[in-house]
Amino acid sequence: MFSPQALQARLTDFRCRCAAAGLAATHQRFVIYRILLESKDHPSPEAVVARVREQIPSISHATVYKNIHTFVEMGLIREVNLLHQTSRLDANLDRHHHLVCEQCRKVVDFYDESLDRAQAAEPAPHGFAIRRYQVEAHGLCSECQSAGGES
Ligand SMILES: [Zn+2]
Ligand SMILES: [Zn+2]
Repeated sequence: MFSPQALQARLTDFRCRCAAAGLAATHQRFVIYRILLESKDHPSPEAVVARVREQIPSISHATVYKNIHTFVEMGLIREVNLLHQTSRLDANLDRHHHLVCEQCRKVVDFYDESLDRAQAAEPAPHGFAIRRYQVEAHGLCSECQSAGGES
């Protein structure tokens, strides 16, 4: 999802953001953040713990969760809120949409300019102040379609 240059830019920006938030850019934090940047599959916090442990076997669950929470609060990553399942994490902050496989729960980014233009009538219903739109398209990924074997 990120070119090597973009990854480097995000990591440099990370140090500045930590400094601005009065947070030490520790090695642990750095590893967790880099893993999030390198994960294209919208991992669950649990999956992030497993990946971080490949590099820092001794790191605690609580430390990884706490840092993920901090990153979300800092706006460094987003939580993908799929109403019916646990949280998934997204370091891709570009405007994009999601393809959600209802079978294997895979979440794939996609870009679509016509969806970017989608907008509710002004003012928004129910007195809502809309900050951003993100379309979630539900269905079956190609692997699950061929595994299903029907028709
Ligand atoms: Zn699938
Ligand atoms: Zn995404």
